[in-house]
Amino acid sequence: MLRPTTFADASASLEESEYVIVGVPFDRTTSFRPGARFGPDSIRQHSWNFESYDLETGVSLSDLAIHDLGNTEEFGSATQMADALREEIRPLYAAGRVPIVLGGDHACSPPSVEAYPDSAPSLGVLYLDAHMDFRSSYLGDPRSHGCSSRRILEKVGARNIVVLGVRSVSEEEIEDNKSIGMSYITAHEIAREGIESAVQRALNMLKTERLYISLDIDAIDPAYAAGTGTPEPFGLTPRDVKHVIGMAAPRLAGLDIMEVSPHYDSGNTSALAARLAREAIVRRAAAVGRP
Ligand code: MN
Ligand code: MN
Repeated sequence: MLRPTTFADASASLEESEYVIVGVPFDRTTSFRPGARFGPDSIRQHSWNFESYDLETGVSLSDLAIHDLGNTEEFGSATQMADALREEIRPLYAAGRVPIVLGGDHACSPPSVEAYPDSAPSLGVLYLDAHMDFRSSYLGDPRSHGCSSRRILEKVGARNIVVLGVRSVSEEEIEDNKSIGMSYITAHEIAREGIESAVQRALNMLKTERLYISLDIDAIDPAYAAGTGTPEPFGLTPRDVKHVIGMAAPRLAGLDIMEVSPHYDSGNTSALAARLAREAIVRRAAAVGRP
């Protein structure tokens, strides 16, 4: 085991930071194979693989104000995790910082969105996932990772969330959604029409001033991201997700990357997750400028 480390280039203090890395080593609602609790530190370790300088934008992460807040403490239930995580994230938004939350299972995503202040500019959510995650409750727990899009919808409203890359859903979720009307673009549609057209459609649906990206790493095909709890074939490519991040970056308020379960591959998934987190930071910095 490598010792836990901070995210590469996260050398700013919290007070001066614009981007804040938060790890949530929680995977108690995992429904198939566990291990996402090891995601945050594995993603941090792999972040050191990459250059500070970004070829495409000309932005260097070492010039940006990034702070690594470390990991949240151990929790009991998912409800306790959600309560505590909201308290960690709330002051970050309030101070105008951009949280980059590393899970953990997808149950860690709703509290990261729920912490967004109602008084702040309106928030829309791009929810990237192989699964719909739209159950009202799963195995008796409404805070399960199988319910996360639904919990987020309850915060932002049905018009302000779009699921991208879905290809696994229960009949019950589809039936429920007929009256609720959450928008989704399947992985199969994305493969047919192309990612840029699909993301543009999603962005046209989200009329909000700001955007939050929740990336369940299983949105990406298991050929690229095998290190996850519930792998599902026919997924997005890493480059598809790169397009999503690039197109959303000018409005980006926050990002999470969930369900990286590093022990199921030899590090590729953690490296990909670290690279995508870095992509979000440089793309937003290039789009909005630096203070
Ligand atoms: Mn999910
Ligand atoms: Mn999933």
